[in-house]
Amino acid sequence: MQLKFYNSLTRRVEPLEPLVPGTVRMYTCGPTVYNFAHIGNFRAYAFEDLLRRTLEYAGLEVTHVMNLTDVDDKTIRGSRAAGVPLRDYTATYKKAFFEDVDALGIERATVYPAATDHVAEMIALIGKLFEKGYAYQAPDKSVYFSVAKDPDYGKLAHLDRSGMRASVRISNDEYAKDDVGDFALWKAWDEADGDVKWDSPWGPGRPGWHIECSAMSAKYLGETFDIHTGGIDNLFPHHENEIAQAEAATGKEFVKTWMHCAHLRVNGEKMSKSLGNFFTLRDLLDKGWTGREIRYVLVNAHYRQGLNFAFSALEDARKSLERIDRCVDALAARAKDEPAPAFAQEALDAFTAAVNDDLNTPKAFAALFELVRQTNASGTCSKAVLDVFRKMDTVLGVIFFGKAAQAEVPAEVQALLDARAAARAAKNWAESDRLRDEIAAAGWAVKDSKDGQTVTKKT
Ligand SMILES: [Zn+2]
Repeated sequence: MQLKFYNSLTRRVEPLEPLVPGTVRMYTCGPTVYNFAHIGNFRAYAFEDLLRRTLEYAGLEVTHVMNLTDVDDKTIRGSRAAGVPLRDYTATYKKAFFEDVDALGIERATVYPAATDHVAEMIALIGKLFEKGYAYQAPDKSVYFSVAKDPDYGKLAHLDRSGMRASVRISNDEYAKDDVGDFALWKAWDEADGDVKWDSPWGPGRPGWHIECSAMSAKYLGETFDIHTGGIDNLFPHHENEIAQAEAATGKEFVKTWMHCAHLRVNGEKMSKSLGNFFTLRDLLDKGWTGREIRYVLVNAHYRQGLNFAFSALEDARKSLERIDRCVDALAARAKDEPAPAFAQEALDAFTAAVNDDLNTPKAFAALFELVRQTNASGTCSKAVLDVFRKMDTVLGVIFFGKAAQAEVPAEVQALLDARAAARAAKNWAESDRLRDEIAAAGWAVKDSKDGQTVTKKT
């Protein structure tokens, strides 16, 4: 079945045609690791997880790169205020980010490159922009990208260039740079940066935020790749600037499909600390909501619609999940080898058509609940119906969340898991690792969390 997605660049829903058949290379703007990520950030990460799972569900092999921004004004300010080196400061929030990702059942990206490990690549890319005449060093010693040199600038945000130039001329002289639209590729060191600096041909300093994504995506995905995602607030100027840098340097198209998810509001209002409606994932977990319930709310709404995150939505999610659990648990208890009823395939077809059509999760959940309704009404004992729930859940990730996913583990794998749990309790890490390899050889992947081991079947 053909996958179709809304492309922010063309403003149309288009069929996905991977550059290399059978594979998709995708890049996602990741967190700035200066604090705990909030629920609005996680809306974007949950959307990207859903996209990734949908691509895999369609049989595509996905290379997914998500960057970690570990040097910018906020990380530097935070580390100086805390009186710890930048690397130690960001390490705390990198670790927290991965804990949060796991709590929401978000699949790990293929690579998480950190900006500070790729400064050499960014310097090389800025050098190329100099060679091609797009970069200049201003009197403030910082290096800027000259927007005026790029006739395509504004194509993602659909900017009106004639209007832009007029507004630019008026306020020009307040800035060291030639044009207010110009953005920093390299920021010259100043006192506020403390000991955070790298040497470059333009003097000591640090890379700008935008160059980070252009340099790291090229390194891991090549000069042209299939999909770039982010929250709608990344579209301009960040993604526009990524395109400008990358296409100026290579002369090639940077990305085929741009996908953005809409804003999240809390109780109908923009999230803000002063309104008291600002929540990190941890805040919600502390209030007794589970990662599974929060994930349900995040993936339930269509990604291009604004999402109003309210406690009533979490309560609804809890009830909906209880309904799914009752149905699936009862079916698992009575399941046997029986032909699948017709409604199972119909529900799966409706589900597949929905997710393939620009991730239409409201329709996909409707197909799931139709399956629940028919399963309950018919009293079917068919194991094949359970398989349909499992297939749907490879995309949604809300049904067999965490431990429930282990229900179908074969006895010999369970024995290995039990032995491994005992080895871990005895702090025998060598034995634990040996057993993990043995479990992997049997076709299962084991992960450790604070609730113990979870296993998933390798596909
Ligand atoms: Zn980015």
